[in-house]
Amino acid sequence: MANNVGVERTPTDWWKVARSGTKEPGVAGSPFAHLRLGIEDRRALLEDVLARVVAARKQHPPVVTFDLDGTLMDNRPRVVRILHELADRWKDAHATEAAALRKAHVNGMAYSLVDNLRLLGVENPDLQESALRFWHERFFTDAYLTHDVEVPGAVSFARRCHRAGATLVYLTGRDLPNMALGTFASLRDLGFPIGVVGTELVTKPDFETPDSTFKETVAVELARIGEVVAVFDNEPANCNILREVYPSCVSVFVDTLHAPDPPPLHSEVRVIESFES
Ligand SMILES: [Mg+2]
Repeated sequence: MANNVGVERTPTDWWKVARSGTKEPGVAGSPFAHLRLGIEDRRALLEDVLARVVAARKQHPPVVTFDLDGTLMDNRPRVVRILHELADRWKDAHATEAAALRKAHVNGMAYSLVDNLRLLGVENPDLQESALRFWHERFFTDAYLTHDVEVPGAVSFARRCHRAGATLVYLTGRDLPNMALGTFASLRDLGFPIGVVGTELVTKPDFETPDSTFKETVAVELARIGEVVAVFDNEPANCNILREVYPSCVSVFVDTLHAPDPPPLHSEVRVIESFES
């Protein structure tokens, strides 16, 4: 992995974040908020992507890649659902904590699960550990993906890209054994183009592969599909990686939730908070 484009983040690292939380738990403002495009500039950026798709068609099949979690899909409802199920599990043995978990709401979600537990008032380390296991057994599985919703405007924009002639590549860190079928169904049910010509779902071969390593490895293979015109991801490291492999593409950082301690964004990466236009 080229260290100048991002931070290596293994599942172990990620698990550490989920387990230990951040230094200052809270739903802090994004450090990239000042880079977010205003609505007019965001609209212009998205229209530019569509125009590039149309222009590229004359020479090569145009490709647009989309990450899923935090980019096209908001997975916070999945977290809330799991916390509410845990509240049901705890209602007799840990009534106070169960009541706290029932207050979980998408608007209060932080990146780390332990941060979310602390924010809700679950401070007991043993209960946090138990909650982490409960969450982990559910969050990365097909069945719970039905709770995800679109990031505002994402379905409409993806459909417009597809109609304009782009091949959509859903390039996700979700893994093939546990999440691919649920992801396919979720894309279908939310209204994203999938299962038709001009769409691909690309997942990690296994859970253990670090997301950024997977994306860096697979990035070069995207060229076999066509010309990568634009890439969208909610992790700065991935935006940088894809921008480095395809310097002429439009690399867009979707500023929703992202892992702690992100690298600086490449200066050419654009920042949006939704696909509304
Ligand atoms: Mg993501």
